[in-house]
Amino acid sequence: MGVEVNLEGKIALVTGASSGLGARFAKILALGGAQVVLAARRTERLKELRAEIEAEGGAAHVVSLDVTDHNSIKSAIAHAETEAGPLDILVNNAGVSHTGRLLDVAPDDYHFVMNTNLHGAFFVAQEVAKRMVARVKGDPKRQHRIINIASVAGLRTLPQIGVYCISKAAVVHMTRAMASEWGRYGINVNAICPGYIETEINHDHFATEHGKKLIDMLPRKRIGQPQDLDGLLLLLAADESHFINGAIINADDGMMAQ
Ligand code: NAD
Repeated sequence: MGVEVNLEGKIALVTGASSGLGARFAKILALGGAQVVLAARRTERLKELRAEIEAEGGAAHVVSLDVTDHNSIKSAIAHAETEAGPLDILVNNAGVSHTGRLLDVAPDDYHFVMNTNLHGAFFVAQEVAKRMVARVKGDPKRQHRIINIASVAGLRTLPQIGVYCISKAAVVHMTRAMASEWGRYGINVNAICPGYIETEINHDHFATEHGKKLIDMLPRKRIGQPQDLDGLLLLLAADESHFINGAIINADDGMMAQ
């Protein structure tokens, strides 16, 4: 007898789905049976991903979303629900980084990171949660999931990316605050803190001497691939995780245990 995660009938929105982890999260949710809404600014890339998902037998929709723009958030969520139906799952994944010492960070760079990683994630979750709360009043057994993509950088500081660390630490605490307030409405809010995962933003860096040294310092001298987060994401998205709320789970190959 086998046990498998079944997301059939679920509708999931993934922010920042145009590349890296977001694209993989959307694919694995679709493989699990969910209808996925791909949300980001680069809609051409989202359309390519939609075609890939459909070719594998999944269902996907594309919406344009800039998480730093309140009007864009409101219209993207409304568009998503008109196209696909009421959202059951949000993967709050869009994120950016900035490299530099805290002493040198310019206001624009600071606001760029905080507006995307923290304020963007907050207002996307708030807009989605308002709709979830309204629905659960008519259907108290309805289950909802919000999965915030934080980082090990939200649990410990890492050199040269101080503002990113600050933003992700705030996402970690935001997750607990949301879980505490929204749990009674059947919304489970959890965070994944990935370690180093190879995506477009860091692929070139890991090929440099500095990047190779960094990999050498990791517990198993390896970085992850986006699919290494599949199991955790599916667990947090599934109905079976209904007793997990406010959890901050690192998926880092042992980095935080060092
Ligand atoms: P990525 O750059 O490939 O993905 C980030 C996505 O967010 C992109 O698709 C980008 O277009 C989107 N995005 C950025 N600003 C946006 C905005 N204003 N509105 C809408 N979308 C926007 O990088 P990734 O590695 O896939 O990162 C995904 C998430 O995972 C981020 O939150 C990142 O901080 C987090 N993370 C990544 C790693 C890693 O090692 N790759 C580790 C820990 C956490």
